[in-house]
Amino acid sequence: MVLLQISEPGQSPEPHQRRRAVGIDLGTTNSLVATVRSGTPETLLDSEGQHLLPSVVHYSATGEVTVGRRAYDRSADDPLNTLVSVKRFMGRGIEDIKTLGSQLPYDMVASDSGMPNFKTVAGEISPVAASTEILKVLVERAELALDGRLEGAVVTVPAYFDEAQRQATKDAATLAGVKVLRLLSEPTAAAVAYGLDQGGEGVIAVYDLGGGTFDISILRLSHGVFEVLSTGGDSALGGDDFDRALAQWFGQQAGLGDDLNPSVQRQLLMTARSAKESLSTQPQVAVSVAGWTGELKREQLDSLIDPMIDKTLRACRRCLRDAGLKPEDVANVVMVGGSTRTLRVREKVTEAFGREPLVDIDPDRVVAIGAALQADVLVGNKPGDEMLLLDVIPLSLGIETMGGLMEKIIHRNTTIPVAKAQDFTTFKDGQVAMAVHVLQGERELVSDSRSLARFELRGIPPMVAGAAKIRVGFRVDADGLLNVSAKELISGVEAHVEVKPSYGLNDEEVTRMLKESYTHAKGDMQARALREQQVDADRMYVDLQAALEQDGRALLNNEEYHCLEMALVDLERVRNSENHREIARHIEVVSKTSEEFAARRMNASIQKALTGHSLDEIERGM
Ligand code: ADP
Ligand code: MG
Repeated sequence: MVLLQISEPGQSPEPHQRRRAVGIDLGTTNSLVATVRSGTPETLLDSEGQHLLPSVVHYSATGEVTVGRRAYDRSADDPLNTLVSVKRFMGRGIEDIKTLGSQLPYDMVASDSGMPNFKTVAGEISPVAASTEILKVLVERAELALDGRLEGAVVTVPAYFDEAQRQATKDAATLAGVKVLRLLSEPTAAAVAYGLDQGGEGVIAVYDLGGGTFDISILRLSHGVFEVLSTGGDSALGGDDFDRALAQWFGQQAGLGDDLNPSVQRQLLMTARSAKESLSTQPQVAVSVAGWTGELKREQLDSLIDPMIDKTLRACRRCLRDAGLKPEDVANVVMVGGSTRTLRVREKVTEAFGREPLVDIDPDRVVAIGAALQADVLVGNKPGDEMLLLDVIPLSLGIETMGGLMEKIIHRNTTIPVAKAQDFTTFKDGQVAMAVHVLQGERELVSDSRSLARFELRGIPPMVAGAAKIRVGFRVDADGLLNVSAKELISGVEAHVEVKPSYGLNDEEVTRMLKESYTHAKGDMQARALREQQVDADRMYVDLQAALEQDGRALLNNEEYHCLEMALVDLERVRNSENHREIARHIEVVSKTSEEFAARRMNASIQKALTGHSLDEIERGM
């Protein structure tokens, strides 16, 4: 992912005209909002002086909605109606959710949007609606603090979020009544918070260990341009797993079996979490839970979580290897996410990279702060020389063409926003409609690509095959969202689609699709060649058949006619061959055989056109 910088054309408004803009980190576990005041970024507090809003929404039978800490407190006694980790479900389909691997207790039901809904006492709730509730609280908080309506917000998303997940996030913000200035990737936001975009060169590793997820991103900065070299991580590993390990240990100390009721389980987990967090600032903590009272020492926690930290470090090494780098190539390690407060995590990361990570900015707040800095630039609060960051698309986008082939229109790693167009034509005489199938991926065949959307262009005036000119335009906006249009240029008929796929891809799936495209490259090229020859053979068959029907009897003698009929049979047979060279050879032969017929038809049609016109007219180009 490349991040280019472009200059902001707006000039700096007077201080009293400062526009109200915020950065929002919509997290899996916690969310928060930040803004730039008097040139300094700060996170905004709630009425109780807290900046973290737990990303938890509770629904009651009376339709009352609670968000944040009070909702979190309901998770022990009313788990089914207390939605946690909603971010995992954003933009995902039923199939994805089965493989999410999270042991969340919800009843999920299918819905029209393609995203499954949560079944609660207050009815079916979509992941977007639950996220909207979280965002509403943050927007309200900001409007209170800034004393007025917001101009807009930069909302952060994981670097690997795809179209559907980004769209779902954007929808949630729009529903919460705030304009999305940009979606920004979380590691980029963290690097921006440390001012790493302001000059300097080098490789940056962003280590983000949150509540339920671990993300590692390797960025390279050169000449003020960020490039994401690789991303990796584990979507089912985070501070919650530390809590689970510790809760289990508490259970053992208390002499409890494995078969615990959900409410005892929740109690153990909540105690574990608060004990773990205390150990980040003190060497030991007194614990009393489920009938067990004792001292928990830091060493005990360390020994429980070491295997999990090691797992994150293995992912780091893999990610570095993907980027073709060694730990010593990394100039800066940025720590992000509440779980990087755990001292053991810092120690082990320091050891792995051979350098002290950057921890000066609160790891909970660093993403929101970077987003706020970016929002401030985007609304024009900064002088003209400030920079904007741009992303690239992770997988190529294109459409299906004849023969089940994927024609790429925008290639992966293209900087967004971007608009590209390509002209296509009709396959059959008199074709009045065209099906546009929008695809994503690196492979040559449609069957190996991911289907994003389908739409139809209707009302094409009937013409001979190949005469219509259909311009297919792809536009990807700064948020990575795709709009596809198709226009027949002679008649002006037009159709378009906003691509909102019903489910998303996670980072592993993107990586897998890329890897497959490399390993299958040769086979894919052969498959493409085969399909192209088959399409050519089909076209030739249709054309020749029509021509024979129309002019065969008039222009050919019996023997010639029979010979071309045989050629047709031959084409039909060889079309199904799996050998593209063989098909090519037959196409060659048939085109030789039919050359004379084609020439006679040409003459005949010129003859016909000439009838009734003077030679003068012809010469004047009539
Ligand atoms: P997310 O990005 O998933 O929303 P956060 O970055 O907010 O998550 O991290 C939440 C995690 O950070 C939780 O597991 C929480 O227990 C952990 N955490 C918060 N404060 C501390 C602390 N002082 N010490 C250790 N872990 C902490
Ligand atoms: Mg986070």
